[in-house]
Amino acid sequence: MDIRVRNIVKDYGRTAALEGVSLDIASGELVALLGPSGSGKTTLLRIIAGLDVPTSGQVFFGEEDASHTPVQDRNVGFVFQSYALFKHMTVLENIGFGLSVRDGKTRPSAGEIRRRSMELLDLVQLSGLEKRYPGQLSGGQRQRVALARALAVEPRVLLLDEPFGALDAKVRKDLRRWLREIHERTGHTTVFVTHDQDEALELADRVAVLNHGKIEQIGTPDTIYDRPETPFVFRFIGESHAVPVMVHDGKVWLAGQPILMAAGGLSEGPAALHLRPHDVEFAAHAGDALPARILSVRRSGPTRRAEIRLSDVEAVFEIDAPAALTVKPGEERPVRILRGRVFPV
Ligand code: ADP
Repeated sequence: MDIRVRNIVKDYGRTAALEGVSLDIASGELVALLGPSGSGKTTLLRIIAGLDVPTSGQVFFGEEDASHTPVQDRNVGFVFQSYALFKHMTVLENIGFGLSVRDGKTRPSAGEIRRRSMELLDLVQLSGLEKRYPGQLSGGQRQRVALARALAVEPRVLLLDEPFGALDAKVRKDLRRWLREIHERTGHTTVFVTHDQDEALELADRVAVLNHGKIEQIGTPDTIYDRPETPFVFRFIGESHAVPVMVHDGKVWLAGQPILMAAGGLSEGPAALHLRPHDVEFAAHAGDALPARILSVRRSGPTRRAEIRLSDVEAVFEIDAPAALTVKPGEERPVRILRGRVFPV
């Protein structure tokens, strides 16, 4: 089932939670809504679910305008942190709950509910635990039961709000891999909310980055990381630094030298060059490189991370250098900027 979100605005009194959000999600796609706290992720998910009504705008499920369809008729499965499992029900009863409360005609027989619930238990790799109560499970196991419960009603769309939010880092990582596998097997159109960029980049087919109630950029994890379209996305995803530059004569100038970046579309005057630590390298010769001084050096996994200051401008940033390269604080070393992106200030 594909989902189209059209120009959704949501106001809470004077607060604008969403300011005109449009988003197309293809059938079978796994999309992450990523952004800082308060950016509107949960509001958008709740509106897709039908748990909240937008101030204006529409939500389509396939060709159907679902904007006014109540939540119980949307056939969505959701796992929200706040929707805990039913404590007094066994794991199996929890999974079968959605089917067992259906109206007479659409309700499967008790045997059928049991059979489907056992199948889902197997899918979430919890076979053997059907008689346990939620209190007898670990946090990760509970989340898996919650997911099985959401899948049991054969939803058209699966919506997950910070599904692994409360769990520790190791469990989160395991569940991430596992959710991706389940997604590949079941092929549900899935939208999940997270504030964790690693989770979004690792899990999603596409990531929508939200900020102040708007989508700043939507794209594959590679696009979002390698080609951020706004300063916010540059800062929010991965590590980056902004360096003051000047646009003049169709070129970008840093410390009195023109650098490789294209100035196309930028107006004359001050601008900001956004860089990641692997966008800069130490140069063997001064040549066209920029003079710089090393402020500090530390080992960072497979590379050596150096903090440097350009000699002629107030600009401090970090460089990833090969671990084999020995550089020391206080040394003068020219640097060359390989990539980056210039934004107006
Ligand atoms: P996120 O999920 O990205 O943290 P939310 O969608 O929860 O963001 O919230 C977006 C904005 O809307 C925030 O400023 C939040 O305070 C506001 N907001 C969310 N829900 C309500 C509500 N029920 N009443 C008033 N304001 C709300």
